[in-house]
Amino acid sequence: MTDARHLLLVGGGHAHLGLLHGLALRPEPRLRVTLLAAETAPLYSGRLPALLAGLYPPEACRIDLRRLAAAAGARLLPGRAVSLDAGMRRLLCADGAILSYDLLSLDIGSVARPPPPGGGEVLPVRPIGSLPARLGAALAGLPPGPARLAVIGGGAAGIELAFALRRRLRRAGPAPEVLLLPGAALLPEAGGQARRLVARALAARGIAVIAGAEVIASGFDGLLLADGRRIPASLALLATGAAAPAWLGGSGLALDPQGFVAVDAALRSVSHPEVFAAGDIAAVLPHPRPKAGVFAVRQGAPLLANLRRVARGAAPRPFHPQRRALALIGTYDGVAIALRGRLAIEGRWLWWLKHWLDGRWIARFRALPAGLPRATG
Ligand SMILES: Cc1cc2nc3c(=O)[nH]c(=O)nc-3n(C[C@H](O)[C@H](O)[C@H](O)COP(=O)(O)OP(=O)(O)OC[C@H]3O[C@@H](n4cnc5c(N)ncnc54)[C@H](O)[C@@H]3O)c2cc1C
Repeated sequence: MTDARHLLLVGGGHAHLGLLHGLALRPEPRLRVTLLAAETAPLYSGRLPALLAGLYPPEACRIDLRRLAAAAGARLLPGRAVSLDAGMRRLLCADGAILSYDLLSLDIGSVARPPPPGGGEVLPVRPIGSLPARLGAALAGLPPGPARLAVIGGGAAGIELAFALRRRLRRAGPAPEVLLLPGAALLPEAGGQARRLVARALAARGIAVIAGAEVIASGFDGLLLADGRRIPASLALLATGAAAPAWLGGSGLALDPQGFVAVDAALRSVSHPEVFAAGDIAAVLPHPRPKAGVFAVRQGAPLLANLRRVARGAAPRPFHPQRRALALIGTYDGVAIALRGRLAIEGRWLWWLKHWLDGRWIARFRALPAGLPRATG
């Protein structure tokens, strides 16, 4: 164990969850593992809309990192990385601690894109861990009377949040209005059939879609679109996609033009061979993919396999991700819409499939033996 290399995992993202699960099933004696995680019970994003809709209690949507790290024989350090000197192999935490490593793996997700300027109440959906509390407080602070809530963003996450908000607010009292502001168009990367099906599902549930222009400002009475339209809204949720956290900017790591960590097909930094990255934070240069949890989940096993190989002095192997991912959008009234590439279908059975798939992912981590925390200095 004394010759083991120190692997520092930063972030309890989807790929690291899979990696730790793999270590719990088959320990790696050549690695001494530390997990630095800003949240010790991260929220599973696939269940976030259902949690907001009031369908599940929070504990059914979170993964217990203490238990997972213990099962994997890893040391868990609750904390947030704020700066990295990749040349010196040193990571600075928000509490002032400095961590060194032989191997570093980053799976810290992404951050919200900047909200439109102005004084209106616009809630970014990221960080998703705090969204249930932030949304609860914002809704509680609305003046009495009919509310008009907007979701900004026309990707799968924004659409699903609009359905979930409608469900939550109908349960809470008289139905308020929910609007979706997708910018230029709904689901810009999907085909016409998918767009039509989603538009019909939204319309059937009374969710108005106001497309054709970006939101450029927010005020106390609503939102301003680039074409001059003013949209009254009491509160807006911002689901416009993923941005890179700024703190990696000064790390010395090679980044892509958007600031994500540039890695090769083996998930290894193109500038620092002892650094790996997966999930939203990684820009896999040979295989660009959308920022989605599905891709992060699939990277967990090859990431672990490559770290095992590097620990025994072998070269990491390239990983070829799937081209397309299945997105299941719940409408929160017993139906889900499945999108894959340009195809789309909807049905009640898809809602049960979504419920089953999400539940299976969470249950996987609960089924592990509690394990004994290893002393890792
Ligand atoms: C509303 C919504 C719904 C979504 N639904 C789906 C879906 O159904 N299917 C799908 O495929 N994708 C979905 N996504 C996208 C998905 O959430 C992301 O692509 C996915 O979470 C990325 O996973 P990750 O492994 O990169 O990191 P994440 O799952 O984001 O986890 C990163 C972790 O790292 C921690 N962390 C962050 N910074 C630091 C730091 N500096 N130091 C230490 N720890 C840190 C965070 O606290 C977090 O726990 C959804 C997104 C949103 C916003």
